[in-house]
Amino acid sequence: MTASNQITAPNIGPALAARQSEWASAVQADPTLLGDIAHAVGGPFHVIDPGRFAANLDAFRAALRAAGVQGRIYFGKKANKAGAWLDECARHDGGVDVASAPELVHALGHGVRGREIVVTGPAKSTELLWLAARHECLIAIDDLDELERLVDVGVAARILLRVLPPTGPNSRFGLDPEQLDRALERCVQVREHITMDGFSFHLDGYLPQPRADLANELIDRCLDARARGLAATAIDIGGGFACEYVDPEDWRRFQHDYSDEWFHAAKQFNRFYPYHQAPVGADMLTAVLERVGSRFVETGTRLLCEPGRALLDQAGFTVFPVQGCKARGEHFAVTVGGLSMSISEQWKGSEFLPDPLLWPAGDSAADDGPIAAFIGGSSCLEYDVLTWRKIAFERAPRYGDLIVYPNTAGYQMDKNESGFHQLPLPPKVRIHTRDGRYTWSIDSH
Ligand SMILES: *Cc1c(COP(=O)(O)O)cnc(C)c1O
Repeated sequence: MTASNQITAPNIGPALAARQSEWASAVQADPTLLGDIAHAVGGPFHVIDPGRFAANLDAFRAALRAAGVQGRIYFGKKANKAGAWLDECARHDGGVDVASAPELVHALGHGVRGREIVVTGPAKSTELLWLAARHECLIAIDDLDELERLVDVGVAARILLRVLPPTGPNSRFGLDPEQLDRALERCVQVREHITMDGFSFHLDGYLPQPRADLANELIDRCLDARARGLAATAIDIGGGFACEYVDPEDWRRFQHDYSDEWFHAAKQFNRFYPYHQAPVGADMLTAVLERVGSRFVETGTRLLCEPGRALLDQAGFTVFPVQGCKARGEHFAVTVGGLSMSISEQWKGSEFLPDPLLWPAGDSAADDGPIAAFIGGSSCLEYDVLTWRKIAFERAPRYGDLIVYPNTAGYQMDKNESGFHQLPLPPKVRIHTRDGRYTWSIDSH
């Protein structure tokens, strides 16, 4: 819990309390569990809940069902490398979106069938195209040359043609209108071997309307393609489903009152992820379907999508052991065991803003009042900082306490992790309940 109104150090920003799921709050409220894991692991670790991932996946599938639209939800795998998510995709009739041979092999190794995998990514290697075709994966073609190389591979394959979105004409991904025409022509010529299953796109931003607009346009293109003898049964609307990390009022106040002074050394940032949005997750898919769902139904077109972050919403958090806390002017510098690479946002020149929490909460001695602190990693780099923003803590963090970063499963955990300083990578710990008590295991990857 934060207590910014009691802090005497100047220029502390408002709290940005993270929204947390019941399971995460319960695990963090257990008096010993996180401390025991920290003791066993001996360093930072990520806690993951595959059950929450499965619930998110089911919500996306329910959104399709409610609109009467056929389709498949492919997990955008790059958002987190744990193996546990893949087991849930296999069990819950999901799919996986991969962009490399190791990602493809990883998904297959967890029981996801080739037919349930879509291979995206630009200018894929011929080896990846061959492997994907052999496993009957759906392949999103990004380039005319790539299509030729797939034809040369000589294995029957199912493809989507990835479209350069009109809303992002400078994107390096997808086929522009002229390239798309040529690709379609080629698909007609090679339709004995290559099944043109439809179109795909992936848009920046988190708005339902542009996705609905482009899907609508591509449904017309599917009808044209069918008239030319192509299958064209599906449209893949990509990922970019929004998440909500903090409450709207907190986010509004944060943006409205924003000051560089809230950050250690008045550190300046140009952009932040939109930590409050609406609609989010499966509700955003529903919002897309409210706009174009009926066209999918009428034309018998399947809707595919590739959410990464949104399937991981509330499915994990990250824990760092406190190694020190010293005064730095009017506030404090906390050092944690671990590196800022385990909270990736910093590596995009930005910062992960939901408030980190001190564990155990409370537990303050009488002479141990509230403080404000920024949080650095245990490397020798000045810029290895997890949180530049001065965070209000009820008491000074002490050696052996833990700092918890909530809701980190989507892109924060392992996107940028490295073994810098020869430190081991933080393990991912699954929490189970058995006979009414918690047990835990390490993700098998
Ligand atoms: C990254 C990516 C995704 C997942 O995006 P999210 O914002 O995590 O939903 C899906 N499809 C493609 C092609 C991507 O590059």
